[in-house]
Amino acid sequence: MTDRYRSLIDGRWGAASDAVPNVNPSDLDDVVGLAPSADAATAQEAIAAARAAAPAWGDSTPETRATVLETASSEIRARQGELGTLLAREEGKPIAEATAEVGRAAHLLRFFAGEALRIGGELIPSVRPGMSVEVTREPVGVVGVITPWNFPIAIPTWKIAPALAWGNAVVFKPAESTPGSAEALVDILHRAGLPAGVLNLVHGSGSVVGQALTGSPDVDAVTFTGSVGVGRGVVASAAASGQRVQAEMGGKNPMVVLDDADLELAVEACANGAYFSTGQRCTASSRLIVTAGIHDRFVERLTERMRGMRVGHALDPATVVGPVVDERQLEQDLRYLRTAAEEGGDVIGGELVERATRGHFLSPALVLGTTPGMTINREEVFGPVASVIRVADYDEALAVANDTEFGLSAGICTTSLAAAKHFSRRAQAGMVMVNAPTAGVDYHVPFGGSKGSSYGPREQGSYAREFFSTVKTTYVNPGRV
Ligand code: NDP
Repeated sequence: MTDRYRSLIDGRWGAASDAVPNVNPSDLDDVVGLAPSADAATAQEAIAAARAAAPAWGDSTPETRATVLETASSEIRARQGELGTLLAREEGKPIAEATAEVGRAAHLLRFFAGEALRIGGELIPSVRPGMSVEVTREPVGVVGVITPWNFPIAIPTWKIAPALAWGNAVVFKPAESTPGSAEALVDILHRAGLPAGVLNLVHGSGSVVGQALTGSPDVDAVTFTGSVGVGRGVVASAAASGQRVQAEMGGKNPMVVLDDADLELAVEACANGAYFSTGQRCTASSRLIVTAGIHDRFVERLTERMRGMRVGHALDPATVVGPVVDERQLEQDLRYLRTAAEEGGDVIGGELVERATRGHFLSPALVLGTTPGMTINREEVFGPVASVIRVADYDEALAVANDTEFGLSAGICTTSLAAAKHFSRRAQAGMVMVNAPTAGVDYHVPFGGSKGSSYGPREQGSYAREFFSTVKTTYVNPGRV
């Protein structure tokens, strides 16, 4: 069945159009949907609608906002299987992972429903006699939300839910390749009781709709997740417009495996971190930094585990690694593998795979014998590809782990508490995992990186308030009483 997507502006669904086909990467003959490609004027209409709706929504009671989020959470939970199937069809994530991502969206909405009820302030005694100081939280105003395709329902939810919880109006521009999950989320939130204009959805390209958001004086803040190249442009453009901006970008996440690691646990953590979601996660474990004493055993077991991973259609329950999202990404993955081989790496796997349907199927790849300076260890691939760097000891492992422009997530597999604690302090990353994959952060804790991976405050958890609300300091002189 082919869906026809529409934009939602000021509470009204726009006309359907056949501009952009949403093709199933597991089956190129399956067109999941057709989305419109909005022009800049349509984006401006959405911004104006949000601007008009923002004050009343900002004044609504915490319970009103919590109820909308709670209602949306319940519907998503009730429709988890159906929405998981849609996500798997349009993005290619294996059905179990896709369904789990939908469940995560339901959890996020429930968490932020609670946050809406927890908005509080502070009363601070002034240094001036008799005077008191109130610190209160207020909405930022209109928030532009720009999201990538790789978590097409979870990432929009972890931006839109806190924006609404803290009383902001939203204009949402999803990735062009995953409009279906975005539209389902917006439809559910809209019907959950949002007033017209509070949440607007504009399908369209980044260069038109995205730029309209970052260039508008009527948008107060922009939250972006995507690639480093686009993210830096978004930050520059938003800053030039005087907007508050948050950007979560790429990663080149190291996973250190020390001689004293539990071998099976390390292999499992690396296999999951590198290849689940077809490696298309900003937190994927892409550089496996392994000390000499365990290197050969680790490589042998990981290769075995990798070769046993079934590559196939996302809706086949036996599939562990789904297709690469589209042809451009597939070409990018293959190009990085060719370069790795040309620069002296030994590539295992990484072959095109044929299945009953025409899809972008690529077997997982492990590149052995790499050095930190090789392209495969410097640039984000964003596919089912990991490289192994052999090091002498922990000190060298730590230095190699930090030898990158990125700083999103870092992991270590070890049975030494001292090494784990030292790594947690010294790893230059926003998130550290001990004996666990670098990917897979809970929905109620802060998410984000350091160095070139992130710009601005953290997302998720109660920390999200730093971006989605602003504080006001009020002095109260009671006068004579
Ligand atoms: P892109 O950077 O290509 O796109 C992200 C979003 O930005 C899309 O909606 C895109 O629109 C839009 N966009 C493109 N150009 C502009 C512009 N000039 N102005 C404003 N918006 C624009 O990323 P991908 O969608 O390819 O996602 C993959 C990337 O996302 C990877 O690099 C990955 O590391 C990163 N990522 C980071 C995460 C994190 O939290 N750190 C989490 C998940 C992914 P359009 O759809 O039209 O291209």
